[in-house]
Amino acid sequence: MDTCRKCGGPLKPGEKDTSSGRDIREYICIGCGFADWEDRGVALWKLLHDDRNEMGPELAATPIPQPLVSAAPASRWNRFLACLRLRRM
Ligand SMILES: [Zn+2]
Repeated sequence: MDTCRKCGGPLKPGEKDTSSGRDIREYICIGCGFADWEDRGVALWKLLHDDRNEMGPELAATPIPQPLVSAAPASRWNRFLACLRLRRM
């Protein structure tokens, strides 16, 4: 896109908006001031964001760090020991 749809005049790049997750480039006609825009596909940050989301389940499957496991006693015995530890404090 390099010419105005209305008058065929040259366009200058305007605002770039990627807040919607799409890479939207705005163009403003130097001749008539008509603002046009071009959808250049998915915004880069959105791609990165989606990548991270895809990694989500994998991250969830990673083993829980040891301190967290011992802080949440699974058995009654562990809960009993935790009680004793609390009373001593
Ligand atoms: Zn124009």
